[in-house]
Amino acid sequence: MAKLQAKYPGESEYLQAVQEVLESIEPVYNQHPEFEAAKIVERMVEPDRIFTFRVTWIDDRGEVQTNLGYRVQFNSAIGPYKGGLRFHRAVTPSMLKFLGFEQTFKNALTTLPMGGAKGGSDFDPVGKSDAEIMRFCQAFMLELWRCVGPDQDIPAGDVGVGGREIGYLNGMYQKLSRQYHTGVLTGKGETWGGSILRPEATGFGALYFTQHLLHKAGKDIAGKTVAISGFGNVAWGAVKKATQLGAKVVAISGPDGVCVVPGGMTPEMNDYMLEMRASNRNMVEDMAVKFPDKARFEAGKKAWSVPCDIALPCAFQNELSEEDAKELKANGCWCCCEVSNMGCQPGAIHYFQNNGVLFAPGKAVNAGGVATSGLEMTQNAAHLSWTAKEVDERLHQIMESIHEQCVQFGTQPDGSIDYVKGANIAGFMKVATAMLEQGII
Ligand code: GLU
Repeated sequence: MAKLQAKYPGESEYLQAVQEVLESIEPVYNQHPEFEAAKIVERMVEPDRIFTFRVTWIDDRGEVQTNLGYRVQFNSAIGPYKGGLRFHRAVTPSMLKFLGFEQTFKNALTTLPMGGAKGGSDFDPVGKSDAEIMRFCQAFMLELWRCVGPDQDIPAGDVGVGGREIGYLNGMYQKLSRQYHTGVLTGKGETWGGSILRPEATGFGALYFTQHLLHKAGKDIAGKTVAISGFGNVAWGAVKKATQLGAKVVAISGPDGVCVVPGGMTPEMNDYMLEMRASNRNMVEDMAVKFPDKARFEAGKKAWSVPCDIALPCAFQNELSEEDAKELKANGCWCCCEVSNMGCQPGAIHYFQNNGVLFAPGKAVNAGGVATSGLEMTQNAAHLSWTAKEVDERLHQIMESIHEQCVQFGTQPDGSIDYVKGANIAGFMKVATAMLEQGII
């Protein structure tokens, strides 16, 4: 860590992600001198390569705009590079390195053969028209298409990139490459190679994982109150499945504040989240304006100020601080399943773990998204489409297996389960073994 800190000062998210994993794996690593001899950790913490490129496009006023684009190909030991694209004004190489690093372990947990990658741009979709989004995606693909391929690197969505953006990116990829296969991006539309349930998969998978975690703790999700941050694709799927399972989603939030929903989110409100995302306004207040008798907007507040049994961070890294964790606990919260990548700050995780709040990390909880991307790749390679039932069953099995891996590697001498350790050690063992077996490269 000291070496990395000196080498990459200021890359705080990347250093935070590496620190968490190294802390977890230390005892296991020390039991394997062959890992040390092959310098597995020193190799694993560095991305295989990073592509950086200029993306120039024209906005609706006819003005020329320039952004930066990136693809971080982190680790291919267990399969081709796989991971999403993030369009957000705060995107930096540090953010994408942390996400690519996390992705490597997460993808290993899915049981599918996928390496880790992440990409994106500092392009800010907020306030952009549909035509601007299309022109940006096309300009972005003018560079990205040379870095990716169905057996090399398969991007997908992430924050700011959903089905619409994947469509524009795929159209331009085909035009440039003259390759008409369906396998270079996942999260495609259902009529052109996309898997049924991929849009819902991250949220659904997170709730399946939560069910297993609660079951192990002798509890049930039905009748529980849930607070969710965000209102994008992940939060949308989480609200849908939580509601289907009989829980009551009492809060969703955005950068402008929180919408408190005392009676619980209804299917109509859940559907409206899609319109809110497509509008590019990035304001959760719109929900309270649309449903004034059901939702109350509180400006500047987080979802964590709303009393709940279960907290599900579904928005952005480091969105839940130690103070938020204390407020949640004081208001009766007893479980937090992190759905966003690294959504909880280290102080929050330690507070939860030391104060009897069940906690599981994003790389286990949210892996259903990329796992279903893996299922989409399988369908594409076989030139067929599975039914919703088939995809859902496989997603269920995968989330159960991830939970089992966490239990296997995370059970402590006192019988409690450290899900952070469990997920990190399980992912590490798989990637480290694959690297070791393939020699020093
Ligand atoms: N961006 C998602 C994640 O963080 C999905 C990646 C994918 O489907 O490739 O896992």
